[in-house]
Amino acid sequence: MVDREGTAPAATPARQLLDLLGPVDTYHDTEHLGRFGMPSGAMTEHMLEPVSAATGATRFGPLEKVHAFWFAGMSCDGCSVAVTGATMPSVESLVLGAHPGVPRVVLHHAVLNMESGPAYLQPAEQAVAGELDAPYVVILEGSIADETIAHVRGGYWSATGEEPWGPDGALRPVSSTEWVARLAPNAAAMIAIGTCATWGGVPAAEGNPTGAMSLMDFLGKDYRSVLGVPVVNVPGCPPVGDNFTETVAAVLYFLQGLGPLPEFDELGRPAWLFGETVHRRCVRGAYYEEGTFAEEFGDPECLVEVGCWGPVVNCNITSRGAINGVGGCMNTGGACIGCTMPGFPDKFTPFYSRPPGSLASTTVSRMVGSVIRPLRKFSNNNLNREVRWDREGATPSAFSREHSEPSALSNVGHKFYDKLRRHNDRALRDGDVWGNRPGEDQNDPAPQPATTETT
Ligand code: SF4
Ligand code: SF4
Repeated sequence: MVDREGTAPAATPARQLLDLLGPVDTYHDTEHLGRFGMPSGAMTEHMLEPVSAATGATRFGPLEKVHAFWFAGMSCDGCSVAVTGATMPSVESLVLGAHPGVPRVVLHHAVLNMESGPAYLQPAEQAVAGELDAPYVVILEGSIADETIAHVRGGYWSATGEEPWGPDGALRPVSSTEWVARLAPNAAAMIAIGTCATWGGVPAAEGNPTGAMSLMDFLGKDYRSVLGVPVVNVPGCPPVGDNFTETVAAVLYFLQGLGPLPEFDELGRPAWLFGETVHRRCVRGAYYEEGTFAEEFGDPECLVEVGCWGPVVNCNITSRGAINGVGGCMNTGGACIGCTMPGFPDKFTPFYSRPPGSLASTTVSRMVGSVIRPLRKFSNNNLNREVRWDREGATPSAFSREHSEPSALSNVGHKFYDKLRRHNDRALRDGDVWGNRPGEDQNDPAPQPATTETT
């Protein structure tokens, strides 16, 4: 195959690794597996299936279930923690098949499943061998380590279990990278969760010895799943759990044939989640607009001068919250360090120092804000008064010992503001004033008592 320039494309890192390792043809002998790795005597799937909310008979669409293989590469497991806190939808509802139209998810997660060892890896083996009983998606947490580097010294960077894939069927540790490479060609979808898996993240920072890379770097730009889906990326360090479970549910609707392929941007991010900068929905955005900035953490104002990169970062955490709609960086006092971005972390260091480009915009904000803030304060004072108090010139509040009433100048200003506000109000009549009693308003004379004329 040649590319548009007429040259043969370089083999992807995934292809290079598989060429180095060669094919596998020996699997665990399941006949002799017995209860090894199953202390409870059952696989998680066998426990959950009977209590699934919808059975195969009642489910919409052709798929009753989809396997989800969760692998951890160069990872801190923060993505797993974030996802177990998701609520919209929750992991529990997905594995129980509680959403009409969404196939039941058979999750294979090293931390969450009951089984371990060969019993845990058996479905992954079956998927590699093409013998699994349902379609599968692969979820990668953590970046892909370049195992060709470690292979030279006979070691590995990060592994998931042992398989009889060595010479003559000898057991050897299987790297997460190898699992991903072997499972990708027949996966229904490949989903990267967290910034390490989506863009390389911290393990791929400058100076790392592992050659760490993202899932899309590993599989290459021509990768498509068996259903034609490129790598899906849900970034964040850690990501918002709901961002991930919602994306998985949307992809599953598509796999079920009940929905279109969700809209992704050119980097494979869910467009509806990452289309805006976090600044545009930040709870501190109005402070930026008015030119007031925090001098230290704990101040309520905009955090740009103590190191917030929000205006140039695609993220939705301020509107969605971190877990269960609550929390999230600037909502709770933290500055954005760009953790969802492909350039993270190298392009955002040193953390917590002012982004150089912010100087121009904060200077303009300060200039505009110096005019806008007093004007808003003036209107705010006016709007904080009942119309009755304006008429009577007194505020009946005991919360302030000496409640200052507006000065004569302020009253003139407020009246002028009211005129402006109502200048095109067609319901307004000349001289209309709220609260006038009949007879006080020249346009609304008091009704005269009825007279009876007698002749
Ligand atoms: S704290 Fe950050 S995201 Fe929020 S308004 Fe300031 S610069 Fe924008
Ligand atoms: S606001 Fe910034 S630091 Fe916080 S999650 Fe979003 S990208 Fe990461």
